[in-house]
Amino acid sequence: MSRTDEPAALRPKRNARARAPEDAPRPERVLAGMPISGGIAIGPVFGAAEPATEVVRRSIEPDDVPTETARLDAAIVQSRKQLTKLRARLGVLPEDSQAEIAPLIDAYLQMIGPSRLVRGSRKRIADALVSAETAVSDETDAIAAALMAMPADDDPAGRRRRADEVREIGRRLIRNLTRAPFRSFTGLPEGAVLVCESLRPADAALLDPSKLAGVATDEGGSDGHTAIMLRALGVPAVLGTPGLSQAAKAGDLIVVDGSTGRVVVNPGPETLAEARRAVTAFARQQQKFARLRRLPAETADGETVELQANLELPAELPLIAQAGAAGIGLLRSEFLFMNRETLPDENEQYETYRTVVDAMAGDPVTIRVLDWGGEKEIEALHSEGIVPEVADHNPALGLRGIRLLLREPALLEVQMAAILRAAQHGPVRVLLPMVTTVAEVRAAREIYDRVARRLRRRGDKLRDPLPPMGVMIETPGAALSADALALEADFFAIGTNDLTMYALAVDRAESDVAHLYDPLHPAVLRLVQFATEAALRLRMPVSVCGEMAANPRLTPLLLGLGIRSFSMNASAVPRVKQAVRSANIDDCARFARKVMEQSDPARIQELVLGAVG
Ligand code: PEP
Ligand code: MG
Repeated sequence: MSRTDEPAALRPKRNARARAPEDAPRPERVLAGMPISGGIAIGPVFGAAEPATEVVRRSIEPDDVPTETARLDAAIVQSRKQLTKLRARLGVLPEDSQAEIAPLIDAYLQMIGPSRLVRGSRKRIADALVSAETAVSDETDAIAAALMAMPADDDPAGRRRRADEVREIGRRLIRNLTRAPFRSFTGLPEGAVLVCESLRPADAALLDPSKLAGVATDEGGSDGHTAIMLRALGVPAVLGTPGLSQAAKAGDLIVVDGSTGRVVVNPGPETLAEARRAVTAFARQQQKFARLRRLPAETADGETVELQANLELPAELPLIAQAGAAGIGLLRSEFLFMNRETLPDENEQYETYRTVVDAMAGDPVTIRVLDWGGEKEIEALHSEGIVPEVADHNPALGLRGIRLLLREPALLEVQMAAILRAAQHGPVRVLLPMVTTVAEVRAAREIYDRVARRLRRRGDKLRDPLPPMGVMIETPGAALSADALALEADFFAIGTNDLTMYALAVDRAESDVAHLYDPLHPAVLRLVQFATEAALRLRMPVSVCGEMAANPRLTPLLLGLGIRSFSMNASAVPRVKQAVRSANIDDCARFARKVMEQSDPARIQELVLGAVG
């Protein structure tokens, strides 16, 4: 959320676009980003500016030429947006760094204007009848080869540099065309640190935390889904680090401190020694937290509090057990749908949910039905023709969550059937994402009952009554209709990540506006309070499962507002348990009243973040 006070990129003065000799020692550079996931990574940079883009050659029919040309145009617009944004963000770098990087980005921007690359690619689609990515790949190779074949008396270093630039822009276009995840992750060397401009949630889902030392990116916000995935994997990570992928090259040594947001490229001996000491200190702190595992989640005055885990990927199950979480308060089912061409059927989903339910051994599991949309990309929905290839202009306000599921009820029916079957093996609850109206809950309930009737006719022995069906309170519309929604839903799960985003009109995954993303803004807190009170009046269970729940400094405030159930990334459970155990409910209620009297966000920050150490 907040940036550190560390100095931004430090770079020695060099001529714009000049390159240091290959073997010259590279100077130490310190950069500042957003701390995302605790721990310190020390290792060689992997990936840097060279994500793999394998093009599967594809021929097309003459009728497909307009579609492929439109795809190319969309990729050009997207690439231009990315580069313009990158250019705008260079302002935070020191002047000498800007002078080095800005001309390079200008050159890229020119190449996606009316350039040979763009003209040539269009022509290849129409004449050679190939897909847009095949055309861009062939045209890039042709331009690079022509540059390298120019007369020998020309400037060979300059030619090589221009050929590299053409290849780089070709790769960007292809990446935007294919939306290819960084599949080269499978070849990621053990102990490496992944550095790239941006990472999608679907890319993060492919990472193997047992091999990867850490992650650092130029882009990204603290409560976006990529951040959530990285925390879930327990990988030290820093996002939103301007200038990073330009400063760090493949093979450079890098230190990533996920607790402070500090990133050091080519650390000197002193920095390296300091980082090693920090690794030891972090391990010691983790051991201390592990001792809390067996102690009850109970306030100092004896009130029991439920601390559960959020689950993004099945790989987290062992972490959840280690953390001592009392069940799963939010299973984000999107992982089941990511990085695949086809949708998972009822049996596949059932097996996965059942594995989780079995692993929880009697502790409850809350399964949220698919929350597609916003920044969450699910290729199979495109390849199965359910949603169009070219994204909405404003996906966060589009066909997200329950809206898509009610338009495509077959998706919801399959998922509900799988969940109902898994519920035969342990306590399960169903959760609806992105609800804004009572009508959505009623429509989902009808589908739920219909699916249950069908399964019973088929001979499945379902629970009676059916598992509870709850609603995410993550839009201001839902929060302010909480009294009406409470009459339809069996429980509430307050999603403070989206609630903050929609209340404040601040994209949760966008580094440019990260300083405005404030869950302690009085508007957000009042929404949380209103929804909580609506639930408590009806004695209906209510939990907080957004990232607010994971911050121990906010625990007294949430307890004071009446929250007794928290769900968070597993690694945060011990910290929050410690905060619960030192809290007193009466003090928390008094404190919450004082906070809720305030209307100035800065004063609330001071009260909440200053009050509890
Ligand atoms: C939230 O919005 O707070 C939430 C828990 O849902 P997600 O982060 O998956 O959007
Ligand atoms: Mg949400």
